[in-house]
Amino acid sequence: MTAATKPPRPLIAGNWKMNGLLAALAEVRALAGRLARSGKTGADLLLCPPATLLHPMAQALSGSAIALGGQDCHAEPKGAHTGDIAAEMLADLGCRYVIVGHSERRQNHGETDAEVAAKATAAQRAGLTAIVCVGETRAEREAGRAEAVVTAQLLASLPAGCTDRNTVIAYEPVWAIGTGLTPTAADVAALHAAIRRVLGQRFGAAAGCMRLLYGGSVKAGNAAELLAVANVDGALVGGASLSATEFWPIVEARL
Ligand code: PEP
Repeated sequence: MTAATKPPRPLIAGNWKMNGLLAALAEVRALAGRLARSGKTGADLLLCPPATLLHPMAQALSGSAIALGGQDCHAEPKGAHTGDIAAEMLADLGCRYVIVGHSERRQNHGETDAEVAAKATAAQRAGLTAIVCVGETRAEREAGRAEAVVTAQLLASLPAGCTDRNTVIAYEPVWAIGTGLTPTAADVAALHAAIRRVLGQRFGAAAGCMRLLYGGSVKAGNAAELLAVANVDGALVGGASLSATEFWPIVEARL
């Protein structure tokens, strides 16, 4: 098996969104404890808390294999951008990843593909791995345009220089996020195969091992099926990542 065809190491990532006060660090400690006691090392684990919890969570995760990530970053390294956070600041706190282009940012903050690409470039500059989110709306899926929409988003949201080390793709159908709805395993397989093809055409062998995550209402009850789909190299988990009890079975499904 060549380096280009070696299966990517799975990544199970939790996106806490705008949830969690200091007391929620108890969940992180519980998760780290379960991971350590399991003795399993078959996947990378990542938590992306709100910015207010990055520093205390870095402390809570000290000595653990669980990585830390931001939920967004600004494209510039510093400057007059009140309320924003530079990728360099995330790296400075010990983050290794940053989510860019989540559909909630695309929808609620009007982020364009070009802005997402600029943020992914910022992540590369800062030595972070960007988790670039793409996904179609319900209307786009019902119109039979899911693959075309995701392909267009990918081509416009990924900057030059993407490799399997600095970029992860998260396919997150907008209609599946936080709704309890999920695509069928066959639909996920079709989209992930299409994403793999597009990445190969754009980046060549460098994309062969790029990790493709599925996100959207992943729960303990559906994780094993979704994570077993071809070209699904892990999951981006929202609501179920807030509780160690709910997140752990998802992690275990691929650990
Ligand atoms: C997300 O926010 O990226 C997500 C997938 O959320 P949920 O798991 O709650 O659908």
